[in-house]
Amino acid sequence: TDAHLSAIEQARVLNAFVLETPDQARSMAREADAKIAKGEVGPLAGIPLGIKDLFATKGVRTTACSKILGNFVPTYESTVTSQLWRDGAVMLGKLNNDEFAMGSANETSCFGPVGNPWRREGSNTTLVPGGSSGGSASAVAALLCMGATATDTGGSIRQPAAFTATVGIKPTYGRCSRWGIVAFASSLDQAGPIARSTRDAAMLLRSMAGHDPKDTTSVDVAVPDYEAAIGKSVKGLRIGIPKEYRLDGMPAEIEKLWSEGAAWLKAAGAELVEVSLPHTKYALPAYYIVAPAEASSNLARYDGVRYGLREQGKNIIEQYENTRAEGFGAEVRRRVMIGTYVLSAGYYDAYYLRAQKVRTLIKKDFEDCFAKGVNAILTPATPSAAFGIGEKGGADPVEMYLNDIFTVTVNMAGLPGIAVPAGKDAQGLPLGLQLIGRPFDEETLFSLGEVIE
Ligand code: GLN
Repeated sequence: TDAHLSAIEQARVLNAFVLETPDQARSMAREADAKIAKGEVGPLAGIPLGIKDLFATKGVRTTACSKILGNFVPTYESTVTSQLWRDGAVMLGKLNNDEFAMGSANETSCFGPVGNPWRREGSNTTLVPGGSSGGSASAVAALLCMGATATDTGGSIRQPAAFTATVGIKPTYGRCSRWGIVAFASSLDQAGPIARSTRDAAMLLRSMAGHDPKDTTSVDVAVPDYEAAIGKSVKGLRIGIPKEYRLDGMPAEIEKLWSEGAAWLKAAGAELVEVSLPHTKYALPAYYIVAPAEASSNLARYDGVRYGLREQGKNIIEQYENTRAEGFGAEVRRRVMIGTYVLSAGYYDAYYLRAQKVRTLIKKDFEDCFAKGVNAILTPATPSAAFGIGEKGGADPVEMYLNDIFTVTVNMAGLPGIAVPAGKDAQGLPLGLQLIGRPFDEETLFSLGEVIE
């Protein structure tokens, strides 16, 4: 814990942590020590972790990296983090993220952007760590913590993992409780770990997962010993290669990485099959209707009365308006406007309802594929390596949204997906591959992920 606390101090330039909690960390570490001395060794005894600032931590400021929650100190602990503490983990502090987890570059945080510890060969340009869990990925990659919590609504665990050569898994929807996690788009949000290896990710997920009666979408199924899946043979597993992910204009190095990944799995005894997910091309537009719609509804609660920031106004309406105008950043306001529009009486059928129908078709594509005996699907994790801060999406937000092209389908279908480091681009930057699994079969993803890693 001490070693990590001093590493954090020395790497403040990355802006990965938005709050350091050294006193709490040392006291949790001492507590873990005392338990170990008594022979009570939890599975994560003494392991120092960073916590995305979207997870409510009791008595410790939790902001979702939004000004509107700038002074919010929860009186409760999220289920996921309380399970980590139950198993002996230590909290080093709270990690930066895109405001309300909206973004793919960690540039929308009210605390400013996060730096990626990786650099292009021969260049000093600071690159983004991806988003929205950019602080989590950067902190793990820079060895500031042994692992981190993260959330994934449309790729926010897997894309930053790919940009930083770390491992990130978004488990099946319903696997981890969302209780005490600031809501973005409730039908898509899932918690998961970002870690240094598939084994570490497996150990963390085991503690984070599990049924919780406080979240009605949490599913009551047993949590397997994920670590046991590491090193398990992948012989005979059928791996689908979806032809629709072969995008026009995909960089040659991504294409090459993807074939290499397939070859490694084949060499390990897996069988490769071409599969078709015909509705893939509609996933991104449908996601950018469903996610803002749910966000606009979830964010209605930030009214200047119940939480955080309060601006004055002549009457209650003005108070709401002033609070929200002052408290929300540009990307959040954009999503609230899109969401309100697609849910409005005249447009609901044309946009929201349609997007929901598309979502059903996307889910069915995967079901058909799994019904044919496919165990997992291999795709690139992102269409490119990390880019420079401020390089993308400035004039056109859609440019940034395109970065989610390989990840959003997984959230739309509620499936588990893992991103594992697989290689480097021509400039020496990490690239990741994604494996998508059957519902509640994260184990297969860990076994396959470890082969690639
Ligand atoms: N980049 C996507 C978005 O901005 C996904 C974010 C996430 O998964 N939280 O909505």
